[in-house]
Amino acid sequence: MQPQDFDQIASPVSVAHFSQYKLSRLLLKHLEKLGFHMVNSEKHEHGSIGEREIFMGHGCIAINDAERGVTVTASFLSKGKYMTRDIQCHFLVGTDGAGSSVRKSLGINMRGEKDLQKLVSVHFLSEALGQYLIKERPGMLFFIFNKDAIGVLVAHDLKQGEFVLQVPFYPPQQKLEDFSSETSM
Ligand SMILES: Cc1cc2nc3c(=O)[nH]c(=O)nc-3n(C[C@H](O)[C@H](O)[C@H](O)COP(=O)(O)OP(=O)(O)OC[C@H]3O[C@@H](n4cnc5c(N)ncnc54)[C@H](O)[C@@H]3O)c2cc1C
Repeated sequence: MQPQDFDQIASPVSVAHFSQYKLSRLLLKHLEKLGFHMVNSEKHEHGSIGEREIFMGHGCIAINDAERGVTVTASFLSKGKYMTRDIQCHFLVGTDGAGSSVRKSLGINMRGEKDLQKLVSVHFLSEALGQYLIKERPGMLFFIFNKDAIGVLVAHDLKQGEFVLQVPFYPPQQKLEDFSSETSM
């Protein structure tokens, strides 16, 4: 984006374009400042979570009413194997996105049309492409539509050369396996 795109014209805060893994790191730093800490899940055997403990890499797979609060069954990877653990909570806040397991477990239907489009995202680094685009066509989104390729190229960081290419994906005619690293290159 151009420097003027960051001017705070319509809002007191500036627009930002920020990769999710960078945002997650930033959010964790802020949580640590508030006294939260990450827990090594392999060492943590018992089911209850202490105050301000953060468990990464856990997926909620089931929810059950408990006598007080709720019991959540979560899956996590330990030494290459999927394991599960039950976690007792006073409250469960379902913030697990459009395909929310929490929403489905509670029998709540999604409103509106689902599966609007399927995309395969290819996250890659290319300093050469970044430098070329800075000189020739600075921008954040590049729409590619020609006989050889269709996709949206998202420039996460031109200086660093960090990109995500989003390619439309049409199952059942196409399978995810068709998009190997070799194909992506
Ligand atoms: C390609 C693309 C481009 C977009 N561009 C824009 C844009 O320019 N502007 C805009 O405003 N919006 C944009 N959006 C939409 C925006 O990203 C979403 O609306 C927003 O991220 C939804 O936030 P959320 O917190 O509800 O869910 P998410 O951001 O999806 O977060 C859900 C989290 O829950 C985790 N999770 C999922 N299942 C489980 C489980 N079972 N157990 C535990 N954790 C789980 C996921 O790993 C994820 O971290 C875009 C979306 C996409 C896909």
